[in-house]
Amino acid sequence: MADNISMEGHLADRMAHITSSGIRRIFELGARLVDPIDLSIGQAHFDVPEPIKEAAIEAIRQGRNRYTITQGIGPLNEGIRRRIERMHGFSPESTLVTSGVSGALLLGFECLVNPGDDVLLPDPYFTMYKVLATLCGARLVYYDTYPDFRLDTAQIAALITDRTKLILLNSPSNPTGAVYTRAEIENLAALCRAHDLVVVSDEIYDQFVYDAPFTSIATFYEKTLLISGFTKSYGMPGWRVGYAAGPAQLLDKMKTLQQFTYVCAPSMAQHACLTALDVDVEGHRRDYREKRDMVVQGLDPAYQLTPPAGSFYGFPTVPAGYPDDVTFVERALAENLLIVPGSAFSRRNTHFRLSFAADNDRLERGIEILNRLAHP
Ligand code: PMP
Repeated sequence: MADNISMEGHLADRMAHITSSGIRRIFELGARLVDPIDLSIGQAHFDVPEPIKEAAIEAIRQGRNRYTITQGIGPLNEGIRRRIERMHGFSPESTLVTSGVSGALLLGFECLVNPGDDVLLPDPYFTMYKVLATLCGARLVYYDTYPDFRLDTAQIAALITDRTKLILLNSPSNPTGAVYTRAEIENLAALCRAHDLVVVSDEIYDQFVYDAPFTSIATFYEKTLLISGFTKSYGMPGWRVGYAAGPAQLLDKMKTLQQFTYVCAPSMAQHACLTALDVDVEGHRRDYREKRDMVVQGLDPAYQLTPPAGSFYGFPTVPAGYPDDVTFVERALAENLLIVPGSAFSRRNTHFRLSFAADNDRLERGIEILNRLAHP
């Protein structure tokens, strides 16, 4: 459709610096390809397990089609609490069912950040953090995790000022696949306690951890807003269910804001998530660990890649001979391979993101193409 109606002067100033992410632009270019090898996608490649589908259908049939209470149905909040106790060994003061992990992040930022506050974000970062902090009028302060994507507490300490409000932590990471060690997490918890900072911990990939056990900072630091969800773990990104857990005074504010914005997470999906809590995803985890190994071995020695310990992304360096990440990704597109330029997730333009949430055949063909492209 033509866009002839001028909205000049009508759009809010806050949108001036928010443009559609690099990922979308690549999707648009990729949409023109015929049957591309798509290693750009940020969602699991498997479908929702059958028992969860049945539970959703049954919920619709039983008339669970109305609003639920804002905080989410009681049994699901109870199940989320038990999940957190089992995984992390503590019981949160409060929980809230949200419209995806994005919903929890938006409510969390809106309830914590004042204009002019400093927000500490990792670089590389999941793009939404930058947008949310910008919407809140925050000053973005990045802690750099290059080249091996570790947490450097001394570097973070040097960035903290009187204006620092919160630090965003994302382990396992999108886009790097890094999972922080228990020692890294404990050091950061001590730093945050010393400066009385809030941690927003996005743990959406907590089911996709392949080597050492996963440690949540919420285990060590009570002023943590723990955020996770069902979207990635059960192949249901379109069903929009996430959750937040943490201090009741914060969760109460988020609940109030949810009441006047999202209202509630989708009802039938909440009911289906009750079943999801009992579904074991170990098979998928094993499968993704193998895919991780395929990628790490397949790109060695042509690429510099820190082996991802979690999530389903790797973040290799663009090979020598290409001026930047976008040029490299465009070369890959010309070979029918879709990947994402690192600058969609970073101030640097030296890397690219590859998702291994794909079937093995496609993954192998993608690795072949990347090996061909490694020597321009
Ligand atoms: N956090 C991270 C790190 C993600 O990768 C994503 C999805 N790409 C989200 C949050 C948003 O997840 P949801 O679909 O549950 O809103």
